[in-house]
Amino acid sequence: MSKPKLAIYWASSCGGCDIAILDIEEKILAVADFFDVVFWPCAMDIKYDDVRAMEDKSITLTLFNGAIRTSENYELAELLRQKSVVLVAFGSCAGEGCIPALANFFNKESILDYVYHKSPSLANGGNVEPQPEVQVPEGTITIPKFWNTVRSLDQVVEVDYYIPGCPPQSDQIVNAVLAVIDILQNNKPLPPKGTVLGATDKSCCDECPRERNIKKIKSFTRPFMKVTDPNLCLMEQGIVCLGPATRSGCGAKCVKAGMPCRGCYGLPANINDQGAKMVTALASVIDSTDPEEIEQIINTIPDPLGTFYRFSMAGSLLRRVQV
Ligand code: SF4
Ligand code: SF4
Repeated sequence: MSKPKLAIYWASSCGGCDIAILDIEEKILAVADFFDVVFWPCAMDIKYDDVRAMEDKSITLTLFNGAIRTSENYELAELLRQKSVVLVAFGSCAGEGCIPALANFFNKESILDYVYHKSPSLANGGNVEPQPEVQVPEGTITIPKFWNTVRSLDQVVEVDYYIPGCPPQSDQIVNAVLAVIDILQNNKPLPPKGTVLGATDKSCCDECPRERNIKKIKSFTRPFMKVTDPNLCLMEQGIVCLGPATRSGCGAKCVKAGMPCRGCYGLPANINDQGAKMVTALASVIDSTDPEEIEQIINTIPDPLGTFYRFSMAGSLLRRVQV
């Protein structure tokens, strides 16, 4: 009997999700043993035409990492959806846009203008910008079109499951992949569509060991600007921590190491917008009822938009800033 087929794709992302897959150590051998890996551009030489030639639904499982910000990302999302039985948005970029979606604070023109004309590290003597289509003596060269708005995978195709994280923690990847193998091997029913794998429905605060008791604060500061108490909630020490607005599952890794949660596991269940949830959580710790003083305290939060929507801009209620 032929093995189930596995595809792993990297759209607009940093490559960390692919590294996290390799980081499952010897369990990668179980993956290679159980699946026939038919598409993994980061690890093997295969052409898009090879995927186009595959029968529809012939790939059992596709782990798709990366956001959708170019015509190539979109084309591959549609192609892999068509060829796959189960499509998983793997990691924060595919799930909710993550760091690439911080581009949604700007527009395409201003990004290209900065990168190709204004960046201080630029050496662009001819002042050129890449064009989607260029005529050369040998014919026409095309490159993917750069989109104005970065999107999450489920904003362009139907997604079956999500594995959150930037990147997903290796032990959670192992659990999710072994669960899929178990389901396929033993003909078990698949979890309901939309299930978030490798995480729980609670918040990062629920698995954080730090004590919460002070409650009220007068100003916020960056983590490197003060020595924090290792046992107290960071938020109550004036450090913006996205624990209340973030899904648990990572084991509260950052907060245990003395750094605030940045929010990479995305929204907890039943929350619609990570930034809005964070604003409510902050409101409960600000020590003032005077609007002027509240404004002064809020103004001590560095880069609020980038902090609250660092991982979730594309998937948020805002989706992008109008510019
Ligand atoms: S806000 Fe951060 S530090 Fe405080 S309990 Fe939640 S996760 Fe822990
Ligand atoms: S503590 Fe927060 S930022 Fe750190 S890995 Fe966990 S979810 Fe991601």
